[in-house]
Amino acid sequence: MDDSVVFSDDEPVADSAHPAWRILTVDDDPDFQRATAFAIGEMDILGRRVEIQQAFSNREAAMLLAEQQDFALVLLDVVMETEDAGLRLVKTLREVIGNAEIRIVLLTGEPGMAPVQSVMRDYDINDYWSKNELSSERLRTVLTAGLRSYSQLKATARARRGLQMIVESSNALFCSKNTRELSAKILSEIASLLDLQAEGIVCVKAQDAAPGELPDAYVISASGRFYSSIDGNLNGLGDDAVASALRCSLQKQTTLRFDDCTVLFFPRFQAGADYACYVATERTLDDTELELLEVFSASISRGLYNVALFSRLEEMAYQDDLLKIPNRNALIRMLDMTLSSPNKDDRVLVLLDIDNFSGANTAFGTGYGDFILGLVANRLRETFDGNVLIARVRDDLFAVLGPEHQVRAEAIVALFRRPNRPYELGQVHSLSSVTLYLRDFDDTASVALQDARLTLKQAKQLGHDQHVVHDRRLQSAHAESFRLLLALRDAVASDLISIELQPQVDMRSGVVTGVEALARWYQPDGKAIPPLEFIPLAEATGYILPLGDLLMRLALQAARRLAESGYRDIRVAINVSASQLLQRDFIERFTLHLEAAGVSAAQVELEITESVAMRSFEQVCEQLLALRTMGVKVAIDDFGTGFSSLSYLRQLPADRLKIDRSFVEELRADDDGQAIAEAIIQIARRVGMTVIAEGVENQQQVEWLMQHDCLEAQGYLFARPMSLERLLNWLGERPSR
Ligand code: C2E
Ligand code: CA
Ligand code: CA
Repeated sequence: MDDSVVFSDDEPVADSAHPAWRILTVDDDPDFQRATAFAIGEMDILGRRVEIQQAFSNREAAMLLAEQQDFALVLLDVVMETEDAGLRLVKTLREVIGNAEIRIVLLTGEPGMAPVQSVMRDYDINDYWSKNELSSERLRTVLTAGLRSYSQLKATARARRGLQMIVESSNALFCSKNTRELSAKILSEIASLLDLQAEGIVCVKAQDAAPGELPDAYVISASGRFYSSIDGNLNGLGDDAVASALRCSLQKQTTLRFDDCTVLFFPRFQAGADYACYVATERTLDDTELELLEVFSASISRGLYNVALFSRLEEMAYQDDLLKIPNRNALIRMLDMTLSSPNKDDRVLVLLDIDNFSGANTAFGTGYGDFILGLVANRLRETFDGNVLIARVRDDLFAVLGPEHQVRAEAIVALFRRPNRPYELGQVHSLSSVTLYLRDFDDTASVALQDARLTLKQAKQLGHDQHVVHDRRLQSAHAESFRLLLALRDAVASDLISIELQPQVDMRSGVVTGVEALARWYQPDGKAIPPLEFIPLAEATGYILPLGDLLMRLALQAARRLAESGYRDIRVAINVSASQLLQRDFIERFTLHLEAAGVSAAQVELEITESVAMRSFEQVCEQLLALRTMGVKVAIDDFGTGFSSLSYLRQLPADRLKIDRSFVEELRADDDGQAIAEAIIQIARRVGMTVIAEGVENQQQVEWLMQHDCLEAQGYLFARPMSLERLLNWLGERPSR
């Protein structure tokens, strides 16, 4: 049988925008088929050509219908091989093939063979005609009604599918976190919604334009031939017609429809910014498609708005408010990414700190501070490309993270030192830096950052303009100190901290004039941890305050016991560190301790190291003056190791100077030690203080000191530091008593 497609001979094949209606005629009567084909072949229904396919048996028809789902209508002879062959085909078509949309017109050669009403209804049969009633004119009417109903059904089905797709793709849109990703999704979803090749779709975002000016826009996403213009300005799109359609939509703030393209517009109030999206449809969209697009546009707007919201939140979380550069969070995120990437090996992190920044900020005001910070941020930003992350970690601490060949501390610091510019940052403030090579690191970003900061902080304690490279070994020294500090706190809690007392004697008479209280830490196994290890650590961490309080209580208890044992004249010297002395309530607390121990102020001497006395000179003087007024003696410890000038020394409210052990040690030799010790003795005499020598170990030293009028001394020659009980015994056994 001939089942070739029959075209009307004078018309070209229908174009893709207006496809012909496909109609299947099923009849075993070749004459009727021929006549029908002839009649229909000339027809033009609802603006579209008609294309006929013929089937001459029920089986053949069923096969064609199963294979080709695009028939709009079937003209079916009820009586063929059997009386109900046609009805069985209808059943197969609806129930087995599952085609609910195709329209069915039943024909019969014998009147009175009409199927029952229920069959008509159940199988959604449109019409029933007797062949001889079917004039060409009537056939046209019947087909027109059927095809109209078919196209409505089709549109509804497509709308339903489209809505389903919109729901699904809207979900996809809401997962997007940035505009780029979102607009790529928008493009592909529109393409599949309209069943288009994803060719020639552009999504642009308008930049703020002055009122009345043409909006400038850049391409966020594009597909097909426009792909290469992503991220570029709309002017560089390379297609003036498309660019001007987009610009026109942005300017008129409206969606535009053309025969072969559509420009969707998403307004700022819905989408967070003005967006336009050009879609090359190559055909006029039908009403269903336009409606679907409208519904989808609402989803797109919401998606764009969410993304805008998300990026603002991101900005808040990852951007420094003042300088508009990445903040610590952003640095940590990038550091983490870099540490786990293969790039790690050639990446460095440089931290930069402006020396004296907080001082200047206080002195000149925050306006000055902000200006300096802005200057640093800008110059860093101008210098590095997108490969390098610049962040403000906090205050005046900046971070530069990038490839080793680009990020070099000395080059960065040099950026701020430009010769012949007196107000250049580097001329006013120096900068300190630490460089950390990520390849030396397997920890997390925050550990890396913390380590780098610590190294920088340690370096800055040495002075200004420090440039160090982070070294893991230094870090382990730090970890060691931390363990020691924890152990010290445990030791305090479990009473492992004690004091020993070392006598001070008048060398002429051998009379004990005082004892120095020295801190001791004996571990349960009897091992001692020297005070030179734990005292500086306690001072550096602030733990010296509670520790100093404890040591003071212990020393005053010893003073009380000495007095009770008849040694009221023996002064107890207590070492006091800077942070202790400079506490506002130091005098008050000291007084409370004195009262609690029942000790008179005259029995106490406080030892302040020379370097402490010279720091915060005014405050120190004030405190010492108050103490001396109470009757407390003041000794300047380790004298000769600092750089006190005579004029300062004159003002210092102190009773005596302790000549540091290092000079006493050198007294034997005929060298500097002698000269310095001699000078100290003369200075003391000139400012009206007495002197005491520390660390006296032999008779020659005693002789030299006596000759030079230094009459008091402390040292192993006389006694080592000892516990209170041993001291009481030692004192009791002395003949001089
Ligand atoms: P310092 O105040 O200069 O204490 C004198 C140090 O010299 C003591 O060391 C003492 O044992 C040692 N010494 C005394 N005579 C001789 C001698 O003839 N030869 C030698 N080679 N050394 C002698 P120690 O007890 O190890 O204390 C070291 C430092 O620890 C002290 O130096 C002081 O700066 C600090 N320190 C000790 N106890 C305390 C305390 O209770 N509070 C504070 N703030 N610092 C303390
Ligand atoms: Ca001392
Ligand atoms: Ca000393």
